[in-house]
Amino acid sequence: MKIDLIKTLKYIDKDLELYGWIDVRRDHGKLIFFDLRDRSGKVQLVVTPNDPDLHKIAETLRPEWVVKISGKVVKRPDAMKNLDEPTGEIEIKVSKIEVLTQAKTPPFELSTDGYEIGEEVRMQYRYLDLRRPRLKKNLIERARVIKFIRDFLAERDFIEVETPILSKSTPEGARDYLVPSRLHQGNFYALPQSPQQYKQLLMVAGIEKYFQIARCFRDEDTRGDRQPEFTQFDLEMSFVQRDDILSLTEDLYLAIAKKLYPNKKLTLTDDGKIPRMTHKEAMEKYSSDKPDIRKDKNDPDELAFLFVLDFPAFEWKETEKRWDSTHHPFTKPQVKDTQDFWQKFKSEPGDMLADQYDFVLNGYEIGGGSIRIHDPELLKAVFEALGNNKEDIEKQFGHMFEAFSYGVPPHGGIAPGIDRLVMILMNEPNIREVIAFPKTGDGRDLMMRAPSAVDKKQLDEIGIEIKKK
Ligand code: ASP
Repeated sequence: MKIDLIKTLKYIDKDLELYGWIDVRRDHGKLIFFDLRDRSGKVQLVVTPNDPDLHKIAETLRPEWVVKISGKVVKRPDAMKNLDEPTGEIEIKVSKIEVLTQAKTPPFELSTDGYEIGEEVRMQYRYLDLRRPRLKKNLIERARVIKFIRDFLAERDFIEVETPILSKSTPEGARDYLVPSRLHQGNFYALPQSPQQYKQLLMVAGIEKYFQIARCFRDEDTRGDRQPEFTQFDLEMSFVQRDDILSLTEDLYLAIAKKLYPNKKLTLTDDGKIPRMTHKEAMEKYSSDKPDIRKDKNDPDELAFLFVLDFPAFEWKETEKRWDSTHHPFTKPQVKDTQDFWQKFKSEPGDMLADQYDFVLNGYEIGGGSIRIHDPELLKAVFEALGNNKEDIEKQFGHMFEAFSYGVPPHGGIAPGIDRLVMILMNEPNIREVIAFPKTGDGRDLMMRAPSAVDKKQLDEIGIEIKKK
């Protein structure tokens, strides 16, 4: 097994075989110094002029070449120690160099943090960009956060269930990505905007406690911290009230902060909880439904979580001249029953509240959720109130009503985003810095060159013709 370079300092006076990339090279007269780099860090190599053949090979080495090195770990003379580097007290006296692959000169500097380089070129050569310790760290931390979530929920008897990517349009409010069907020409799958309906159907199935690290797809004009595809930690539970969901979310996120990032300062209530406020209060006090309640907004290590509760159930959509759900139509309005719903909806639809909550961190909405309508009659009433006729409801959501007719438990959930959380934890300015292969603002993958034209043969197979502009 390959030895992590950061661990070489444990092998003083031992002969080792090491692998990695040539980092920087420094020639000091007859001595040649390199840094060898791998995922774990760097170690200094030194080639003396004693062995002319070896020295000749060393002279040819260039940054980013991949090499196998044989050599002895030796302590550096005191004057040469570099206490800023983890392996700065030792170096490797090289006895053999094997070049495994050569490398072109990278299109940009890899030894900096990379913020100064144009993002387009960083994305085009993302595999090089990711060689940067900063980005590597972001991926490592993202994996730690996800593993922590999985372990935390597994301990509490949650079942991780994968739901389909080839699916049907969901009413999450954004445009769908469509995938043409070859076998059923003229028909389309939609990529899920979230696993919303599947997770509710899993509650009908009796799963009771579900979660998933789920990819969601929304065809929106990408702004700031949005991406066409992003990752949610999606959760749903049966037989719960709002506070069960909030407490579980609170326990999990405080545990992430305290166990994984003990140096962060948490802004909590006097009894150590995540503050809660109603939507009304947030709007009145902060004119925002995602207030930034940090005590010191210049402190990069402060985490101010917040739950915003009791959102308005409906909002007026001027373009469509109709009321729409603030969250999604499955969200439970705060009403006693269907009759109460119609009464309130007909008089003051804009004043109706929902059992809906948002999860906020440092002024970012990092998640949202709700208690769901499990009474099919009330659900139908909400769909009708939002302007859907009976046929549309049947065509789009008939499967939900059918499922709900076989014994549906009361249920609710939440879906915090992974990308934004890791972005904030890592003090990064946008979510692209914590996504391995992000897309540009206009939805392109510059490295794979997607989206791209496809062969006519492929189009014929799926029965699609491209309209000439
Ligand atoms: N599916 C919802 C969303 O993506 C979250 C939820 O209601 O659980 O916003």
